[in-house]
Amino acid sequence: MKVLVINCGSSSLKYRLIETDTKTVICKGLCERIGIGGGHFKYEVAGSDKGMDKNVEFPDHNTAVDTLIKALTDPEVGVVSDVSEIAAVGHRIVHGGDRFTEATLITPEVMKIIEECSDLAPLHNPANIQGIKSCQKVMPGTAMVGAFDTAFHQTLPEEAYLYGIPYEYYEKYGIRKFGFHGMSHEYVSKETASLMGRDIKDTKIIVCHLGNGASITAVKGGKSIDTSMGYTPLDGIIMGTRCGSLDPEIVHALAEKTGKSLEDVMHILNFESGVYGLSGYMSSDMRDIRDAYAKGDKAAIRAYDTYIYVIVKYIGSYIAVLGGADAITFTAGIGENSSSLRRHVCERLEGLGVQLDEKANSEGKGGRMISTEASKIKVFAIPTDEEMSIALSTVEVLSNRG
Ligand code: AMP
Repeated sequence: MKVLVINCGSSSLKYRLIETDTKTVICKGLCERIGIGGGHFKYEVAGSDKGMDKNVEFPDHNTAVDTLIKALTDPEVGVVSDVSEIAAVGHRIVHGGDRFTEATLITPEVMKIIEECSDLAPLHNPANIQGIKSCQKVMPGTAMVGAFDTAFHQTLPEEAYLYGIPYEYYEKYGIRKFGFHGMSHEYVSKETASLMGRDIKDTKIIVCHLGNGASITAVKGGKSIDTSMGYTPLDGIIMGTRCGSLDPEIVHALAEKTGKSLEDVMHILNFESGVYGLSGYMSSDMRDIRDAYAKGDKAAIRAYDTYIYVIVKYIGSYIAVLGGADAITFTAGIGENSSSLRRHVCERLEGLGVQLDEKANSEGKGGRMISTEASKIKVFAIPTDEEMSIALSTVEVLSNRG
């Protein structure tokens, strides 16, 4: 079945057409600078040099979807003869609050709930909603499915999702841990179980999604039982520019000492902190930090070592929470690509029985085990594929519908 996966931002629309029977990508690309002028359209057909790469003005998201459909059905570079060949559209939606525990067919009622969740993700949900509306307009009659970043973490027990603040604020305002990157954690934990040749129901896996945004999740029997991101994606481990967990009193102290507004302090914590801030504003890109680290740059060493330390701390606490772990899996930009980072994290876990296989770690490619067979906790590096995860969830929703 062909599923079109859409990941819509306020001024961009990333897409991928996936043949779910064979788990293969048919084509992919993006529409950039929607609604701000100077638009650009990219379209690549997998396994061929066919495609488009051109400037197109996108006054709104409807025009972007329209351009995409024209490319998909184009007589020369198209991949379907008619849009009706696309069985469904799977939309990435950042926040489903505590209302969605799995991917869901989008009905007018569901749309209303997603709109209500916009409060929790004001930068993301409105753009996701716009993407759905544009697809509904251009492809009426095609099933639309929403896949939520938060849904996988809806299995968190109360003790993991509550904060130590008066309970009434949870009851009145829904202040709780939600967790994010759910599609990635779900996909990668399934892949890990499959590489172990085990039924996921009998496994305890720690997934480290380390990209520009980063989160670590404890997955027990295929269900998320704790995760490092919280009420928002600012919580948890140190990230590219985000601070991760800190003493909330720091917000107050920063505002008082710098004379900045609360809004400006939150901007610092979201966009000027993390590896970028710790390195003295050198870079938020781990490749730059790694290169400077190798040259002995003090600021890079400080940022890198702090980053590793926090990851190790979370992994250790999740081993405790899970009551032991079968596997630790690294994924996303840094987790998939940086063998030195994986080595530095695993070295600090040797006391817990982690033994890296350095050859598999540094020379291997693709999803693989990178620990020795004797390692008490096995270690994996597995590329994440959030789009595939959305496409497969979309098929599941359609088949449950009958
Ligand atoms: P993502 O958000 O998953 O796209 O990941 C982006 C992050 O991955 C950036 O910090 C990149 O520096 C990092 N990254 C990509 N390739 C490498 C690599 N080969 N080594 C270290 N970091 C990498």
